[in-house]
Amino acid sequence: MTKTIVFDCDSTLSTIEGVDELARLKGENVFQQIEAMTNSAMNGEIAVEEVFGKRLELLNPTRDEVADVGLQYIREMVPGLKEALEELHKDGWDFVILSGGFREAIQPLAHELGISRVEAVDLRFDVAGNYRGFDESYPTTRSGGKPQVLRRLKKEFPQTKYWVMVGDGVSDLETKSEVDLFVGYGGVMEREKVKSGADAYCTDMKELPALIKKLSASGTKS
Ligand SMILES: [Mg+2]
Repeated sequence: MTKTIVFDCDSTLSTIEGVDELARLKGENVFQQIEAMTNSAMNGEIAVEEVFGKRLELLNPTRDEVADVGLQYIREMVPGLKEALEELHKDGWDFVILSGGFREAIQPLAHELGISRVEAVDLRFDVAGNYRGFDESYPTTRSGGKPQVLRRLKKEFPQTKYWVMVGDGVSDLETKSEVDLFVGYGGVMEREKVKSGADAYCTDMKELPALIKKLSASGTKS
């Protein structure tokens, strides 16, 4: 990998928020509570670590429910994504998915897109497929988790000369100081804080290859 684009998953590669879809499977009451917690965290009003375990306890997701959300991620892929990745790949870019969501749910979409590296939170299940907790040591269960993973990736791939992060959330924007270019994506969710803080912003994945080509050629951050 010499040029790498790190993508957020929820509301960036796919129009859904995986946690919200898991919540929907549990009924309206649970859904409303979860949605409120997710939005507050994504808007930067409360810390991720305050809601992460609480949401999962409330969700109590089975392995089958997580697999079901995995299929939804694929069905609800954002328009133009595959074509954009193809074009970028031809131009020499490699891809990583970096998510505060669950690895078991995101893996099928990653496979569909040909992305081998997924950084996300591992869930634990018992043999019957019942929820038994999550990897509490994983950085994206906390605020500041995504920049921490990026620093680790940069150490792992020192030959990578150019890092781009693409995402819709405040937790994505936190990586701005770690990457050469932060692109805010507002095709699913428009967040003022991300839009104003990003080096570049787009609302259509079809625009991404040209945007990245132009800005990475110019070299320095805006
Ligand atoms: Mg997102």
